[in-house]
Amino acid sequence: MNSSGRFDYLVLGGGLAGAATAYHLGRRGERSVLLYEARIPNAGASGRAAGIVTDQLWNEWDVEVARATAEEYADLSRTHPEINFARNGFLRWTTNPVAADAIDVVYRRLRGWGVSVDRVGPTELASAFPWGRFEDVRAGLRGTVDAVVTPSAATDAYLAEARARGAEVWFGDGSGTLRAESAGVSFSASARTVRARTTIVAAGAWSKPLLRSLGQSLPLAPYRVQAATLRPPVAPPEVFPSGHDLDTDVYFRPEGPGRVLAGDGTERVEADPDRFVTAGDPGFLSHLAETIRLRLPGWEASELVRAWAGVCTSTPDRRPHVGAVDPDRGVYAIVGFNGYGVMRAGGAARRLVDLLIEGPGGRASHRLAPVDPRRFPPPHPNFLPRPGFTLDAGDDPRF
Ligand SMILES: Cc1cc2nc3c(=O)[nH]c(=O)nc-3n(C[C@H](O)[C@H](O)[C@H](O)COP(=O)(O)OP(=O)(O)OC[C@H]3O[C@@H](n4cnc5c(N)ncnc54)[C@H](O)[C@@H]3O)c2cc1C
Repeated sequence: MNSSGRFDYLVLGGGLAGAATAYHLGRRGERSVLLYEARIPNAGASGRAAGIVTDQLWNEWDVEVARATAEEYADLSRTHPEINFARNGFLRWTTNPVAADAIDVVYRRLRGWGVSVDRVGPTELASAFPWGRFEDVRAGLRGTVDAVVTPSAATDAYLAEARARGAEVWFGDGSGTLRAESAGVSFSASARTVRARTTIVAAGAWSKPLLRSLGQSLPLAPYRVQAATLRPPVAPPEVFPSGHDLDTDVYFRPEGPGRVLAGDGTERVEADPDRFVTAGDPGFLSHLAETIRLRLPGWEASELVRAWAGVCTSTPDRRPHVGAVDPDRGVYAIVGFNGYGVMRAGGAARRLVDLLIEGPGGRASHRLAPVDPRRFPPPHPNFLPRPGFTLDAGDDPRF
């Protein structure tokens, strides 16, 4: 441990957001960094995520950040091949005429933002997914550079790189005690107390109580998300595009030899990250089975390998909170990824670190303006999570 017990930066949370933040601090030459993880790295959503990385997103900020994150994974994979980064492409489709119209809108908007996407129909879908049935599909979108990554391995790679640049990483001592002081924050866990000039809250679904202990609040609603790994009766190729049925919200991706990972939408009620059902439930599994029966009949006799749940964190406008919460005490946040943190954590962390180093009022603040945590002035009443892998046709409530 740093002998003075003083750090310039204290990062709270060892999931993708915290690990990527520590990594970017190191890349910018910051050596006095402590990352504290209450449990073990990847104990939260990052250890349970599907790992789809796409820039078919709903505003330009997200597109830029997802693209930057993908580039970062591509770089990291040169020295950390275990993150299994692959640009396998991503196709989405619908049989619904209203959603098919929306696909046209989304296509034009994404192309306007420079996203590599084209329109596809039943023929292209059947060729990408020979185990599927697509004759009734009205419209589809294909992202050609979209990718997959193993999220927990990516967290570990960020942490290893952060350590190599001088960061200390502590974990396993529980939540610890945080105290806001006149300049900065003091933090105690087990017998250790440290002080930090800048504290970055990256505690995912646990961020709400953590911020409360610093006298701060942000509008956040944790919610449960489920996924499963399956072994289809005929092994699919090791790399094939990820898919997303917009009608049922079921998505899938390749997951190593002979396996696929599939998930569906999300629950629209608040969950407690310390008390949620960690197994997949029957309702989820039957929804998955029904979509497979109708849309992916070649996988109908799949063996269920494992099903699980994790807790993600929603915000009222589906944008994360990245930036200053209490700049006078040096408290910042990188939370609220609304189920899209694997594809946005790296790019968001890089922008946050630019802000920490360059200070407010400059280009870095401007780049984070759409996700400024202070865009929702208090009080912060409870709200229902409104997440989902939706078509994202702007603010049109039909989609
Ligand atoms: C089933 C599922 C599928 C998903 N699929 C995708 C996908 O395909 N693509 C995508 O982009 N995203 C996906 N996500 C979302 C993604 O996993 C999250 O957005 C992302 O992992 C959030 O990372 P995080 O670091 O913010 O939070 P977390 O990974 O939850 O990390 C927070 C960490 O903070 C720690 N912590 C808590 N309290 C404290 C404290 N007091 N002090 C210090 N540490 C603390 C926790 O132990 C935890 O390790 C999926 C999520 C799930 C559950």
